[in-house]
Amino acid sequence: MTLRLVGNKPSIIGVLDLQGGVHEHLEHLESIGVAYKKVKQVEDFNNLAGLIIPGGESSCLSRLLNIFGIKNIILEAHRKGMKIWGTCAGAILLAKKVVGEKSCLDLINITVERNGFGAQLDSFVSEALIPGVSAKPVPLTFIRAPKILDVGSGVHMLLKIDDYIAAAENESVLVTVFHPELTGCLALHHYFAVKCGLKTVLKGNEYSDPRWDLSSWTKHAGIDEKYQALKK
Ligand code: GLN
Repeated sequence: MTLRLVGNKPSIIGVLDLQGGVHEHLEHLESIGVAYKKVKQVEDFNNLAGLIIPGGESSCLSRLLNIFGIKNIILEAHRKGMKIWGTCAGAILLAKKVVGEKSCLDLINITVERNGFGAQLDSFVSEALIPGVSAKPVPLTFIRAPKILDVGSGVHMLLKIDDYIAAAENESVLVTVFHPELTGCLALHHYFAVKCGLKTVLKGNEYSDPRWDLSSWTKHAGIDEKYQALKK
């Protein structure tokens, strides 16, 4: 996509391209019509309106942040006004407290418990209303997700279910423990873009991507082709 500048305000959302669900986020950003790019080198973080830290494996991601020498660069860009959204492992990296482990970026006053629902096989889907984000229920995909156990001062809970918090935000940071990029719902990407001061092409609170079906989440893994081949 062509990158555009609106006045001299930053208008690009970066997706941290070290490990995890990078392409899925890029595709959702394309669908809402905002400028985006993959980021991982020091110079990539200049002048971003926002940064998405995708799901993946937080221990691996935090090591890669150090190897690529970009942890302080991200903190510096955040200080200068870049907003950040962490999905799942990304939320763990942004948390102030991680049960039993050291925190990484410490940019939002929440306590998270890694793998709070159990093992990979305990992954599940559900849906919930998130007032202020979408008027319709938002599909939720939890993949060996963390639980947000607690939020501290300055943090607003966006979604609480049973004994855990699934989405929260402060002025500059959004965290979700589920994966909107693996569903056809664009509501959270729209919500984050607006938080970054950007406009999207979505009209009338219609956040469902009509091109999505139940197996669309497999497209980047090539699983779908393999499955179709098996059925032949
Ligand atoms: N379980 C992973 C972790 O602790 C997070 C999983 C995910 O991002 N889907 O880092």
